[in-house]
Amino acid sequence: MRPGKTRFAPSPTGFIHLGNARTALFNRLAGERFLLRIEDTDRERCRAEYVAAIIEDLQWLGIDWDEGPRSAEADDYFQSRRQAIYDRYYTRLEQAGSAYPCFCSPEELAQIRARQRAAGQPPRYPGTCARLSPEEVEARLARGLKPTLRFRVPPGRQIAFDDLIRGPQAFRSDDIGDFIIRRADGTPAFLFCNAVDDALMAVTHVLRGEDHLANTPRQLLILEALRLTPPRYGHLPLILGEDGAPLSKRNGSRSIRELRQQGYLPLAVVNLLARLGHHYREEALLTLAELSEGFDLAAIGKSPARFDPQQLDHWQKQAVHAADDATLWDWLDEATRALIPASCRSEFLSLVRSNCLFPKEARRWAEILFGDAGAPDPEARRVLEQTPAEFFQAALETARRHPEDYQAFVAELKRLAGVKGKRLFQPLRAALSGRLDGPELERLYRLPGPGRVQTRLAQWITHQC
Ligand code: GLU
Repeated sequence: MRPGKTRFAPSPTGFIHLGNARTALFNRLAGERFLLRIEDTDRERCRAEYVAAIIEDLQWLGIDWDEGPRSAEADDYFQSRRQAIYDRYYTRLEQAGSAYPCFCSPEELAQIRARQRAAGQPPRYPGTCARLSPEEVEARLARGLKPTLRFRVPPGRQIAFDDLIRGPQAFRSDDIGDFIIRRADGTPAFLFCNAVDDALMAVTHVLRGEDHLANTPRQLLILEALRLTPPRYGHLPLILGEDGAPLSKRNGSRSIRELRQQGYLPLAVVNLLARLGHHYREEALLTLAELSEGFDLAAIGKSPARFDPQQLDHWQKQAVHAADDATLWDWLDEATRALIPASCRSEFLSLVRSNCLFPKEARRWAEILFGDAGAPDPEARRVLEQTPAEFFQAALETARRHPEDYQAFVAELKRLAGVKGKRLFQPLRAALSGRLDGPELERLYRLPGPGRVQTRLAQWITHQC
């Protein structure tokens, strides 16, 4: 059965990159309903401009949400706006004896951890403040100390859950020290508000990075103590870079912004991401609706996925090929659009579809076809220099006779010049575009218009003399 409600819950501390975009996409593809929640409780690191960027990048990717903010202006889906809700749940936990104020200072806690490490023990809160009497708590508060709030982990429990990806998981509560759920400044700790919000927002399934696996038993304990229904959790394997290390800036991760600026199309990025650790039987480029239809939690791999930049270019090629005219037109840069006569627009875009991966390549072809072709590249120059002037003379005369009819032009030139195949096409291609590769010759003949074609052919007659 398809998950009911999934979510993406980014902390706006930076731009989204391939890793968290994949998390967003998997959740989007998996669920019937999808919500966006902004986890902005870390006041020092969160910035409104990143919220705006996250929204814009998700929209650019085509990942839309059924619930959640539409702008960077904080609403009920921003955790910074939900303090009153968290406060109510803190009170409940304190009243039930499931949470207590902790007055240990960061320095004391660091010393405790250092001692535990030196003794070969895992760092764990030893429960110093767990047994303070109400009077002792009062006295400390009266001294102006600002406590954190710790969750009291029940002893001797086994916390088991069935991970959507990794299968059955079990943790011993005795391995988990009492942990902080409210910071000394009153703001909620991630573990707490993240779990409470998933329950209150009726999220049924959470797919997130495997770095969160150890948080899950803690969050299940919190929700159990509050009698709230937990979602089902699934932990996605890491994405590795080409060097086998976790994907990071150093080994090839890029932000969605960067990819967009480099000219990648959203459908290319989305087709790559959807296959990073998820297997589709279909190898062709798929729309978001098709990706969603074919998405299956059981098809998520358990081992790390590897990011291969060549794969990204493979999908880019497919996406450019499949793009409609309006999409490609928008994708070209302003200067390129300005070069293209309205009557040639559609044909130029067909050329782009089969010859270009990025807007800058389209620009180069627009310059060649509609601007000044510039100097030929060395290979084209060699061909031009080896071709006798008579060939270009014959080509120019034939072009004058058949300015609009490429087929007639080629057939006649073939006869007049007595050459065919490569010896016919290469010099023409070189003269018309300054390159030996590129679009069909017919396009190089038709798109620039008779005047430009004839000038270019003529140029190589005089050049030879
Ligand atoms: N705000 C958390 C993060 O960005 C969300 C983790 C989760 O998906 O539960 O890592």
